[in-house]
Amino acid sequence: MTKVSLVCYHYLARHDEFAKIRGHSKLQFQEHLDYYRKNFHFVSVSELLTGLTESQRTNLLITFDDGLKEHIQTFAPLLEQHGISGVFSVPSCILRGEPANPQITRFAESYYGEDEFYNLVSAEITSVFPDHSFLLEEKISNKTLFKWKLPIQMARQILLNLYNKYLLPKFPDFMQRIYLSENDIKQMRASGHVIAVHSDTHPVISRIKKEDQELLSQQIIFPKRELEKLLGEEVNIFTYPHGQKEEIFSDPAVLQDAGYKFVFTTFQDNTSFNPLSVGRYQSFVADTIQSLSDNIWTYTI
Ligand SMILES: [Zn+2]
Repeated sequence: MTKVSLVCYHYLARHDEFAKIRGHSKLQFQEHLDYYRKNFHFVSVSELLTGLTESQRTNLLITFDDGLKEHIQTFAPLLEQHGISGVFSVPSCILRGEPANPQITRFAESYYGEDEFYNLVSAEITSVFPDHSFLLEEKISNKTLFKWKLPIQMARQILLNLYNKYLLPKFPDFMQRIYLSENDIKQMRASGHVIAVHSDTHPVISRIKKEDQELLSQQIIFPKRELEKLLGEEVNIFTYPHGQKEEIFSDPAVLQDAGYKFVFTTFQDNTSFNPLSVGRYQSFVADTIQSLSDNIWTYTI
């Protein structure tokens, strides 16, 4: 019997025009890492796949979502100082120079403010999909509108239009500034980290109907192929975008059939360890060592 815990991180605190986006500070992450090093035994994902050896301490796998630049600039080097291998999940749209959905919303809200961005969103929906302007009758957050209300393809179209009109002209280096490049991804892999699939554009996967082969293929099969082409090896981990309980497939076989051996979520569904639904504790910016120690759960394998 051995125990394993998983944790998940996203953003580093920013000091540019997008400073409103909340992220861990480097110092805070270093403190988290010190706590993990004192209390856990770090494992790589391949050790999880091939079987863990007995360990007195709980094993810990550390993961990072969304393919962000700070992952190679700050997080990976800190892990490497201690010989730790992390899992970095990448939305494949960034490989063709397009930002993923949550970054368009977050960065635009950070720069324009939530209300002003909502006005831009409303104008775009009204002009491009007027038959969906009924969604604007009741004020909801931009996030809810794009995650849950607009059909997946329409949400993507509107977000891309808004990115091209309101973010890219002001920040021509947006992609380079915010995301990992192809070379970054290859370099991180060469440094011993594992790269995982994080869908193509980061929609709520559970909204995709099983009979919608086109969307399934676009968000689950295509990104796997793209990352495999880039890295020249099999990529068999899928990290759910968002990844709360209501955001994942009720039938995990869909991902198994697509060739995935490991699937990460961000909730604890039960205490038994199922490789096709592995919950990770998502660290909040407000996390202290005490709250980490209170909140991180463990699986017994
Ligand atoms: Zn994500």
